[in-house]
Amino acid sequence: MNNGTTTSGLTFDVQLSAQRRTPQERAQLLDNPGFGNVFTDHMVTIAYEEGKGWYDARLEPYGPLTLDPATAALHYAQEIFEGLKAYRHPGGEVACFRPEANAARFNRSARRMAMPELPEELFLGAIETLLAADAQWIPTQPNSSLYLRPFMFATDVGLGVNNPSRSYRFVLIASPSGPYFSGGITPVTVWLSEDYTRAAPGGTGEAKFAGNYAASFLAQAQAVDQGCDQVVWLDAVEHRWVEEMGGMNLFFVFGSGDDARLLTPALTGTLLPGITRDSLLTLAPELGFAIEEGRLSTDEWRRAAEAGELTEVFACGTAAVITPVGRVKSRTGEFTMGDGGPGPVTMGLREELVALQYGTRPDTHGWVRTF
Ligand code: PMP
Repeated sequence: MNNGTTTSGLTFDVQLSAQRRTPQERAQLLDNPGFGNVFTDHMVTIAYEEGKGWYDARLEPYGPLTLDPATAALHYAQEIFEGLKAYRHPGGEVACFRPEANAARFNRSARRMAMPELPEELFLGAIETLLAADAQWIPTQPNSSLYLRPFMFATDVGLGVNNPSRSYRFVLIASPSGPYFSGGITPVTVWLSEDYTRAAPGGTGEAKFAGNYAASFLAQAQAVDQGCDQVVWLDAVEHRWVEEMGGMNLFFVFGSGDDARLLTPALTGTLLPGITRDSLLTLAPELGFAIEEGRLSTDEWRRAAEAGELTEVFACGTAAVITPVGRVKSRTGEFTMGDGGPGPVTMGLREELVALQYGTRPDTHGWVRTF
């Protein structure tokens, strides 16, 4: 899709940057981009106004947005986002993994935050338009990809707090990202957050809503103070049921070998329905593992780990794919999963998923979309 192609009745107006970085500058930035630090030459923006709908879709040079200080999103946090990746497949195609699922989740988040939905075709059209301009920014080193960040925020100007905004902006930016684990896959140590909660029943936990993340930073800082890498959130009512991590869902592996059985916390409305989680619910049974969506208390987590029944725990999400959890800490002590190293079920599932995302296994599920 380039200059003049119409999606959902909208034409993306393509304005290429006069300040595109040179191939040498790009190569230097792609050498070791880390995560979320480097951005491509362009971005897509689409405007919305009540009564008018989505309009003014454009590809433009990446750069600062100019906002009135009274812009609603800056005061009342009406902002949602998504995260997905574009990969360079061995045949040279540019592919995304289940972008339609991100489009659907974006719209579920939009509904929860009283924001307008963006037609799937426009969400995908934005990705296609940005990738057409910036595909050379997809890193080609192993385990690297172009992270895509679509987001939408309220743009009404005014401080009235009684109604949602009537105008919004959708923006898509892209950030080359290197291997999440530069030194190989290292298990993380997690902190059970008993002082803070992330999401209450009826709240916003299942939306990819900016405020959920703002509210998590203090608990994350506490986890780091305790020598941990990540927070594990517990339910807000009883503070004992395991929900998810700051940016990843959790899986628990009981038993081993052919008898390995997986459990992941059920989607109760307070945790984010991860697309990686959902993909693993399909892949695990195909690899011969029984899988269940249910619930696990922190007491049972400790008991089963200490009894050797719980053999592996891992977290999963778009950014790091699958991360083993080696050790758990809380105010009442700490315990280790298995021998503390990455387990075979974790690594087997990781290999399977990564192969599908990077196009080295045939896509039998219809999950890969090429652009
Ligand atoms: N939980 C939270 C709170 C997240 O932010 C994410 C990342 N989107 C996930 C889980 C994992 O979701 P996904 O697999 O779709 O990346």
